[in-house]
Amino acid sequence: KVFVSALSFSRYSSEPRRLLEEQGLELILNDTGRPLTEVEMKEALRRWQPVALIVGVDPVTCEVMEVATQLKIIAKHGVGVDNIDIPAAQRQGIVVTNAPGSNAQAVADLAFGLLLACTREIILADRTTRQGRWDRFVGGEVWEKTLGIIGTGRIGLAVARRARGFNMRILAYDPRPNLEATSELGIVYTDLEKLLQESDFISLHAPLTEDTYHLINEGRLRLMKKEAILINTARGELVDEEALYRALKEGWIRGAGLDVFSEEPPVGSPLLELDNVVVTPHIGAYTREANLRMGLAVAKNILKVLRG
Ligand code: NAD
Repeated sequence: KVFVSALSFSRYSSEPRRLLEEQGLELILNDTGRPLTEVEMKEALRRWQPVALIVGVDPVTCEVMEVATQLKIIAKHGVGVDNIDIPAAQRQGIVVTNAPGSNAQAVADLAFGLLLACTREIILADRTTRQGRWDRFVGGEVWEKTLGIIGTGRIGLAVARRARGFNMRILAYDPRPNLEATSELGIVYTDLEKLLQESDFISLHAPLTEDTYHLINEGRLRLMKKEAILINTARGELVDEEALYRALKEGWIRGAGLDVFSEEPPVGSPLLELDNVVVTPHIGAYTREANLRMGLAVAKNILKVLRG
């Protein structure tokens, strides 16, 4: 049996599902329409005793793994594995896989979409025009501005490639700089402080780890330009949202585009009350193309591990 908690697994193509079923695996789907809680994950795994788990953002803690005595592989339907306790999986001999690169173009498109939506206030313009108003907002331009990329992995570099088309100056911060990117894309690596001080747009593409939790805090928001726009398509916890709220409300920075939140959905978050924030419901990887790539990677990872 394979337990599928990831809601969008094989959503736009039956191929990933077929690959698993052809090998005699039975798929049991999360039918709640939302990610499961830790308690629900435990219940499901205890009940079904799957050999493989296909997971989205649902928590896979040590306790969850302990009830699943047959489990051989946890396959992340995506890239970020911060919801999986990897050391615990290693102790229990469970393989953890993800689908690197499968959604980089999708997330980079959305990051740029949010960037443009913020700087030209496209969402607010749409809303007010529908209301019968004709408020002609004066926005800013992207052409030849400075973009600061935090985390130059697969998504960060895909964003940089798009930025080249806008003739942007690209600054980057990453503890493991990619030297090819420096020559190929003209990225200039710098320290975080300089990046924050000089960038017109700052886009986050680092994983959530102990080092990146609240990477963007009050002190760092205060370093940014008053005109700066912050884009977060990485993980909500990279940003201290309470400090971000004050930064946006009090005008330390101009705006923010957010696909991710420390709590999802961000019910009751004061950020949702601000007009200078554009929000989307963690849809960075939600394109038909990325969905198929992620699904195929997941199916192949599972088959590889189960075949030993
Ligand atoms: P990746 O592993 O290819 O790249 C991550 C990069 O971040 C690496 O270059 C790494 O060196 C760098 N990094 C690590 N610690 C850092 C730090 N402290 N400061 C700056 N950089 C640091 O991953 P990716 O495919 O580019 O994805 C990046 C993140 O985006 C994922 O971990 C995930 O959390 C998030 N993501 C979000 C969505 C979405 O739907 N919004 C979809 C996919 C991925």
